[in-house]
Amino acid sequence: LIDRVSAYRGRDTQVEHHKTICTACSVGCGMDVLTRDNQIMRIEGDWEAAVNDGVICKFGRFLPLDEKRTRINTPMVRENGALKPATWEKAIQTLAEKLGKGSAAAIASTRLSVEALHLFKQLFADSDMATSLEEGLETSAAAVAAEELGQPFEGKLEDILHADLLLILGADLVEAHQVAGFFVKRSLPTGVKLVVVEQGGSALKDLADVMLTPASADAAVPALAAALSGSEVALVAAAAGAKLNLEDLRKAGSLIKAARRAVILLGKEVTTPAAVKALVELAKAGKAVILSLKGSGNSLAASQLHLDRPFKLNGHQSVFVALGDDEPTQRLIQRLEKAPFLAVQAAYASQLTAKADVVLPVTMWAEESGHFLNLEGRLQEAVVSLTPAEGLHSNVDAFKALARQLGRKVNDQWETALKERVAPAVMA
Ligand code: SF4
Repeated sequence: LIDRVSAYRGRDTQVEHHKTICTACSVGCGMDVLTRDNQIMRIEGDWEAAVNDGVICKFGRFLPLDEKRTRINTPMVRENGALKPATWEKAIQTLAEKLGKGSAAAIASTRLSVEALHLFKQLFADSDMATSLEEGLETSAAAVAAEELGQPFEGKLEDILHADLLLILGADLVEAHQVAGFFVKRSLPTGVKLVVVEQGGSALKDLADVMLTPASADAAVPALAAALSGSEVALVAAAAGAKLNLEDLRKAGSLIKAARRAVILLGKEVTTPAAVKALVELAKAGKAVILSLKGSGNSLAASQLHLDRPFKLNGHQSVFVALGDDEPTQRLIQRLEKAPFLAVQAAYASQLTAKADVVLPVTMWAEESGHFLNLEGRLQEAVVSLTPAEGLHSNVDAFKALARQLGRKVNDQWETALKERVAPAVMA
């Protein structure tokens, strides 16, 4: 079987194989990118990859083949109200002059390599507003809990395959992190019990032994603790407090108590470090494993570099957005509308680049190499699959050019920087 997009586009002897990783989400699946004449013909799962055993989802396999966005191939600088093509020297000089005057805010995609994020962090180390596009939504509850506990507490993706109970809390594994969802589905025929706790009515609900729909995922944590406490009074009060069906909560408690190898999968709906720490306590008591799902390819790395704060403009004179090949959200575009000066480093044209005063064109995921820290703390390397067009810089080279122009000393000690903060996952 072969997908329609890739059919008749090259025999196996005519294509080049590039074993790399998918940067679309924090699972970091290994994949084989098949290219011919510097174009992607097909993307397959890498059967030798430790993370995903050859399985990839539609975001890794098909979406890159259906890329409709327009590439930016030349730097641009706004002059007399219009964006005009410029040299790299002029664009970087214009940007550096603006960044040198008044305070700057900076925001970076979590799809950038660790090398690039580390340079970004150093460039904007003096700024009171340097963060990532995720703004910590996907990571900060687990990251802060790890700091407060003083040690990592998370397990590995393969624990899902050996579990006898899976508790999915505040995550929709059909919409995102799909390969983790495939692992869940793959384990169900073995008799594993499935408890889903989610507000939105997860697509996994039809497969669940118990589906709980609490007022919030955070509120469900004390309710689950009460269900495990053995106290009927606490159970009744907790069910009422979290707006949960009493019998469903009781059943969830019984299933969790009976489990010997439970795995708790946390999504971004779990928002408070207190809820995570309470789950760590529950997990310790029941010998369960916790795994938080995080966001894009380098969500965990951005968090380790402290790029995990809510983005806020507060009188900043300039804003620098290192978008890479990410897509800006409407929320971000609206929030940047009043920025006095906007610079965007991007691979693709967007509403944000159209509003920018300086645009720096950079390579996309398949055109640059770099390291990524997946959700379970596994450090992996993405390799180059396509040769970029002349005139594009990698994100790393663009940051280094800006550092030179600013007279800023930067280093490549990203591995050390990643370990300066206690991580929720054990890094390897
Ligand atoms: S699960 Fe994530 S990393 Fe894996 S193929 Fe899908 S989007 Fe890519």
